[in-house]
Amino acid sequence: MRDSSGRSLARCHPGFAPCEPRAHGDGVHELGLFYPPALPPQSRVISQDMSQVDFDVGIIGGGPAGAAMGAYLAKAGVSCVVLERDIFPRPHVGESFVPSSTRIFKELDFLRVMEAHHFPKKYGATWTASPTVRPYSMDWKGVDGDCAPSDPSAITAESRADIRFEERAQPGVDQPYTYHVDRGLFDLALLQHARDLGAHVVEGLDVKHVDFRDGQDPDIVAKLGNKEIRTRVRLVADASGRKTLLGNQLKLKVSDPVFDQYALHTWFEDFDRGGGTTESNIHIHFLPITNTWVWQIPINDRITSIGVVTQKKNFLGSKESREKFFWDCLKKREDLWARVEKARAVRPLKEEADYSYAMTQFTGDRFLLLGDAARFVDPIFSTGVSIALNSARFASRDVIGALAAGSLERQSFSTFENTMRRGVKNWYDFITVYYRLNVLFTYFVQNPAYRLDVLKLLQGDVYEEEAPPVLSLMQKKVAEVEQNPNHVWHRVLGDLTANTFRNAAGANVR
Ligand SMILES: Cc1cc2nc3c(=O)[nH]c(=O)nc-3n(C[C@H](O)[C@H](O)[C@H](O)COP(=O)(O)OP(=O)(O)OC[C@H]3O[C@@H](n4cnc5c(N)ncnc54)[C@H](O)[C@@H]3O)c2cc1C
Repeated sequence: MRDSSGRSLARCHPGFAPCEPRAHGDGVHELGLFYPPALPPQSRVISQDMSQVDFDVGIIGGGPAGAAMGAYLAKAGVSCVVLERDIFPRPHVGESFVPSSTRIFKELDFLRVMEAHHFPKKYGATWTASPTVRPYSMDWKGVDGDCAPSDPSAITAESRADIRFEERAQPGVDQPYTYHVDRGLFDLALLQHARDLGAHVVEGLDVKHVDFRDGQDPDIVAKLGNKEIRTRVRLVADASGRKTLLGNQLKLKVSDPVFDQYALHTWFEDFDRGGGTTESNIHIHFLPITNTWVWQIPINDRITSIGVVTQKKNFLGSKESREKFFWDCLKKREDLWARVEKARAVRPLKEEADYSYAMTQFTGDRFLLLGDAARFVDPIFSTGVSIALNSARFASRDVIGALAAGSLERQSFSTFENTMRRGVKNWYDFITVYYRLNVLFTYFVQNPAYRLDVLKLLQGDVYEEEAPPVLSLMQKKVAEVEQNPNHVWHRVLGDLTANTFRNAAGANVR
């Protein structure tokens, strides 16, 4: 790494500055959370020879995608650097996982770290709708019979459905649970793990752009104060999350034409999670407002993360402050509100907006996009971290092969790109059908004909099949309902993804 005058820099942590105590760290307790010591300093003087690369792979961003990429590459003996803008730990949205993450934790020998942190175990998922206020003034009686002719009680007036991961054996995953996490803790632990495996980690360094230098080894250009820092690498993995550094620079980013979701969230202390065996599940509470739902995620014994997800136009249309809008949404579910009222919000409300987009390509000559830097789909199924981890898993394989073959052109990364495209398309289709169904989705969870195939998706196994048959079946069912105004489900359909299924009725079900 060199500054603008070409002088090499001692690489130090954090952010090259003399290593000072961090804001959190060294056992600071916040809300009962124990933050482990900060990443210890790393330093190495880089060679003065500008013709050599500093690292084979430069990874921008140290979130789950970047840290896992660093860990996979370092484990394989590839020299790599992770350049992270923030100083960890820092808060982050995305606190509930799906079980496909476990494969990555196992491969990276990180499962024992997850266990040592005693993150809450997530055994399944629960969906609830208001027992009193019907979504869209819905007549549940009529829906019951039609939804589940063989079992009219399958969707009850309470409209509650649960699923447990252990119901379906998942190859390569030999525990019946995944985790909910404090992302401050989790991201720090994974980045530390990458470093322990041999990845270089630099925090506090804000990457500004990548200088691709006409097909030669690119420079990652960052700013440290008013100094420009250049890191020469053979190839770049952009894991900058929703900042989408390379996507913006190379103009690859396309806004999602359908999803324009908006979320407000915070942590509550002493929120009553409902007790019983499903207490540790993620809970998705449907609100009787179109396309709006609430997440309930346990963070530790005392803290529960609560978030409202809605369409941005609902928030803008309300003309309310973020705070008032958040509380008003929760009040729409009396049963939920009664529990929220007794709890105490312990963090400022955080907003997440404009988060659905795609990239026209995930790879190019000498670069790959990982995790959110490649694609963001709505978080309804807790998919983001799993996609980030899996993208690192698949990308690292191609990168290791490409470096060995000395071929860093786009085609060397095609297995990664095709696999990720397949996976995120399946997630996207699943989410699209979900938003059309809204609470009727629970029918497919409760119907034995669909349950295990739906569970496979909920477990995060979406990368192998081009189009999982259960998705085609669900799409076909929705298309039938769309085309039949007298169908008892018709008036309950959500409007967000309306007409997406117009052509699915005649489609072959694979
Ligand atoms: C409302 C909402 C709810 C969600 N809920 C869930 C959930 O329950 N479960 C789930 O799995 N996912 C969830 N997600 C998604 C999840 O947050 C992300 O998918 C996940 O964090 C992606 O990991 P990543 O490593 O790709 O990006 P990130 O975790 O965002 O990490 C990117 C890193 O890059 C760094 N960075 C950015 N720019 C630069 C730069 N210029 N230079 C250096 N570093 C940089 C950032 O500081 C950050 O640390 C949710 C998302 C939203 C919006």
